[in-house]
Amino acid sequence: MSGKVYLVGAGPGAADLLTLRAARLLSAADVVLHDALVQEDVLALAPQARKIAVGKRCGKHSTAQRFINKMLVAAAHTNQVVVRLKGGDPMLFGRAQEEIDALSAAHIEFEVVPGITAALAAGADLKVSLTQRGLARSVSFLTPRHGAEEQEAEWLRAALAADTAVFYMGAGQLEQIAQALLTGGKPAHTPVAIVENASLPHARQWQTTLANLARFNVDAWAGPAVIVLGEVVATAQAEEWAKLQHIS
Ligand code: SAH
Repeated sequence: MSGKVYLVGAGPGAADLLTLRAARLLSAADVVLHDALVQEDVLALAPQARKIAVGKRCGKHSTAQRFINKMLVAAAHTNQVVVRLKGGDPMLFGRAQEEIDALSAAHIEFEVVPGITAALAAGADLKVSLTQRGLARSVSFLTPRHGAEEQEAEWLRAALAADTAVFYMGAGQLEQIAQALLTGGKPAHTPVAIVENASLPHARQWQTTLANLARFNVDAWAGPAVIVLGEVVATAQAEEWAKLQHIS
C-alpha cells in the first residue's frame, strides 16, 4: 500500500499565511519535499518529518524535475503522509502538472492544498486592489519564462489584454519585458511596482514607470520578486518605498 501525497502551498513566505490545512498536514507528515523558497519557520511546523530540499532557484542549485517526480513516487511507497511543499500556490508556475502526471502514472493517491500566491501577497504589501473598481477588471499572472514547447512572446498577449499584470520570474528580463510592452502599445507612463520578499519582514518595494523599468538595476534585489504593472499601482501605499537604483 502506498501513502498519500499532498501538493501543498506554503504561501508567499510568512509562516502565518499558511492555511490551517497545510499546517495540519505538515504536523502529520512523515516526509516533506520542499522548494528552496520555503522558509525555515514553515518547515519548523513539521519537526517530526524528514525534510528533503528539492529546490529550484533560477541559476542556482536545481534538482531536475524528472528526478523530483521519481523521489515523490519513491517517498509515497515508503511513507504514509508525503507533503510536497511548494512556495505560494502549488499550481501556479510550480511544475505541478509533471508531478501530478508522475503520481497518476504510479497510481498514487494525491491531493492539492492551495496557498496564497506571490501576486496576492504583493498586492497586500502595496495595499493595492489588483482589480480596483474603475481602473481594472482583469488581472493576469504571467511569466516571461517559457517551456520548450511554448512561444517566447506568448506572455505579451496576456500582459496587454489584462488591466493589471503580475510578472513572476521576470527579474532577469526587465529590459525585454519593458521593450516588448512598449512596442505592444502599453503607455510609457504605466505605473510599475516591484515587490521583493512579499509578506516577509524584510520585504522591499520599488515604484517606477514602464519607461524606466528597463533601466532598473536588478542587482539591487536578492530575494524573489514580482513586477506589478497597471494603473492600480498608482494608488499603492507601500510602507516604505526603496530608493530606485538605475543602472548608470
Ligand atoms: N508557486 C509560486 C510561484 C513560483 S515561481 C506562487 O504561487 O507564488 C517563483 C517566483 O514567484 C519568483 O521568481 C517570484 O517572481 C515569485 N515569488 C515567490 N515568492 C515571492 C515573494 N515572497 N515575493 C515576491 N515574489 C515572490
